[in-house]
Amino acid sequence: MSEQEKQTGRDAQMSNIKAAMNVAETVRSTLGPAGMDKLLTNGSHHIVTNDGVTVLRELDTAHPGAQMMVEASKTQEAVCKDGTTSVVVLAGQMLALSQGLLMRGIHPRVVLRSFMRGSHLALEHLKSRDIKIIDAAKTALRGKATENDLEHAAELCLKACEKADGNLDHIRVITQTGGSLGDSYVQDGLVLNKEFSNDVSDKEIEGNINVLLLNGGLDGYDLTEVQMQVGDMQQLHALKQQELEMLSEVAAMVAGAVGPQGVVFTRDAAHEAVAHYLGQHGIPIITRLQQSDMEGLSRLLKVPIYHRIVDVKEPIMATDACVKQERIGDLDFVTVSGEGEATCLVVRGATRQTIEEYERAFDDAVGVTCLAMQDKGKGFPGGGASFSAASMTVREHAANQPNMSARERMCLEAYADALEIIPAAIANNAGMDPLDVVMELRSADPDMGLYIDSTGVGEICNTLERGVVEPESLVKQVISSATEVATAILRIDDIMAMREQNGGLA
Ligand code: ADP
Ligand code: MG
Repeated sequence: MSEQEKQTGRDAQMSNIKAAMNVAETVRSTLGPAGMDKLLTNGSHHIVTNDGVTVLRELDTAHPGAQMMVEASKTQEAVCKDGTTSVVVLAGQMLALSQGLLMRGIHPRVVLRSFMRGSHLALEHLKSRDIKIIDAAKTALRGKATENDLEHAAELCLKACEKADGNLDHIRVITQTGGSLGDSYVQDGLVLNKEFSNDVSDKEIEGNINVLLLNGGLDGYDLTEVQMQVGDMQQLHALKQQELEMLSEVAAMVAGAVGPQGVVFTRDAAHEAVAHYLGQHGIPIITRLQQSDMEGLSRLLKVPIYHRIVDVKEPIMATDACVKQERIGDLDFVTVSGEGEATCLVVRGATRQTIEEYERAFDDAVGVTCLAMQDKGKGFPGGGASFSAASMTVREHAANQPNMSARERMCLEAYADALEIIPAAIANNAGMDPLDVVMELRSADPDMGLYIDSTGVGEICNTLERGVVEPESLVKQVISSATEVATAILRIDDIMAMREQNGGLA
């Protein structure tokens, strides 16, 4: 392997690390309750957000190192809903500190092995505590919901999660423009951002009702793609006639399958003629539903989802159910209740932009609240306390292992330093001196962290007592995901260098 090739390998490695660090840099200023918002724009649509994963999702990341960071953030979101910024910021700092180690000639393998060891040590030694679940909801909402509504917002999250027994799948967060955040509420059943697609005299059907959930549409032929000679007008007319006949057959079939006291929900569109026919028979139809809504309806009403109408042999009854169209504010909504499990948290807000950010905040907070319930109320003090405590554990271990090589010790110390980026970034965003804070936390009790009040002023205190807490699995997932992505980025370059080496040796 020539000197030249070696250089290329190192360059590639460094560029991967730099790209990943840039991603972390982008979102670091949003971390914590005093984090700044980002304005994302593509000219016509704007998003104002404080949410890391939202920023990253919109970011144009071509570099593989950057993409891996974005993926890590998305994984964090899928598993825990929250902690998406923390993962990226932490992984970024691990990589930043690994640079110095690599530069000194420590092999990437030694670095990543030590980092993984650091992660195991941290996860093993962190002792979870009893937390109040509502405090976890409040912590997730801080910096997003306005402080005035924090109490109410957290109570809504708790109520929704209690109704759903901590099962996130049973909870839907939906938004309604109009009113203010304080008007938000929790409701049993489902609220669909939809109205009946046809005119029916009765806007409400109740009791034992017949329900058809169709995972498709009730459409005619798609003629938009058909090309025809002008001379073929007659043929076109015939085709249209044929279509209408087919549609009325379909409509009659649906009406027959559903029967009286029925309602139809479809995944795709329904042709106007079909909707009209059903309307005349007193059967409301609600179309173009999301897959998750279809599944929610199926669970709530305890009826199956069909793919074709021909498979429906007899009316499918939902007992003790209700489907109605209601006007809330100045918009129509369809509300559905039934025997099964479903809970809706309806978020209200004045403008589109604020409501979108509220929706993200509630999504996170509901996820965190469910997580805290699943963790049986076990968690850690927030505001960087658990990361600082983990850092101390790792550093202590590094100092007390006489058999450890000096290189490994250096790597482990770097890992310990990296964990402190969480309190450091929260402090920095609140205008405090990050180094002062980190140093003070090093000599403090492990429950000590940063508390940032509603005016953005921070102090070091026992955050567990202040009610700034996170569920156990959230913190653990942040540490393990961040370590995983950082070591994966180090490892990939390692393999690239190895291949070249093998090629050189052959
Ligand atoms: P993420 O996307 O990682 O959840 P956030 O911007 O939501 O990022 O910030 C989360 C961090 O902010 C957590 O470490 C949490 O403990 C901390 N935090 C939340 N509320 C407070 C507070 N009042 N004071 C200090 N830190 C807080
Ligand atoms: Mg958060």
